[in-house]
Amino acid sequence: NALLKVEGVRASVGEKEILKGMNLEVNKGEVHVIMGPNGSGKSTLANVIMANPAYTMTEGKIYFEGEDVSAESTDKRARRGLYLSFQTPYEIPGISVENFIRQALLARGEKTSIVKFKKALEKKMELLDMKPEYASRYLNVGFSGGERKKTEILQLLMLDPKLAILDETDSGLDVDAVATVSRGLKEYLDGEKSAIIITHHREILKEIHPDFVHVINNGRIVTEGGDEIIDRIEEEGFGWIKDEQHA
Ligand code: ADP
Ligand code: MG
Ligand code: MG
Repeated sequence: NALLKVEGVRASVGEKEILKGMNLEVNKGEVHVIMGPNGSGKSTLANVIMANPAYTMTEGKIYFEGEDVSAESTDKRARRGLYLSFQTPYEIPGISVENFIRQALLARGEKTSIVKFKKALEKKMELLDMKPEYASRYLNVGFSGGERKKTEILQLLMLDPKLAILDETDSGLDVDAVATVSRGLKEYLDGEKSAIIITHHREILKEIHPDFVHVINNGRIVTEGGDEIIDRIEEEGFGWIKDEQHA
């Protein structure tokens, strides 16, 4: 049984159809990379998998661990073990990083003691080169781009979902920050976990070996393969994909 199965999914934002028949299967322990030109539907796919109400799935099914979750809310899917790291994480004044993560764990029904929780948090923050005082800052308020992304990875490590979807978590980061994010991601994946990584760059994959690379164009997967696709895109851009489609 696949961990995640996206089957014939079509989806719209408002009147506009964006996903035009999407199929994707992710098994336990696999890393899938999704690439594609701007506006091709990558974030839409991520949001539809996570049931963001701003997107309407008009056709197809989504299965998680063999169960049809197509009609389930974001909250329910999160409880099953799905996690989406946003392209632009939002600010939450009044809630600290620590509290936010603790609440998320409690909402999932986990009753770890505060002491154990703090210990675990400290360890993960150290791995990510985050100063301990970060834990008490309000979530994302006044954070730099790098700090936001690190916080996203911290959440990922603490929540330890079954499947993580990272939507351009590496965009706009300097080399050091990308290396840190990559390290955090490796730590998460070492637990036999799965990920869908949406990216334009290879650097975030430094410590990770992707099992499959999918290229999306105009709401469909147009090319699939291995690692070599990333090199070709980095060297040639996306022109060849559009050419192959017309061929
Ligand atoms: P990608 O992540 O691949 O850059 P998106 O999935 O964000 O692409 O967007 C795909 C298409 O959907 C684009 O043409 C974009 O303009 C459109 N789109 C995305 N979100 C919205 C929205 N909230 N309202 C209107 N159009 C949207
Ligand atoms: Mg693996
Ligand atoms: Mg996007």
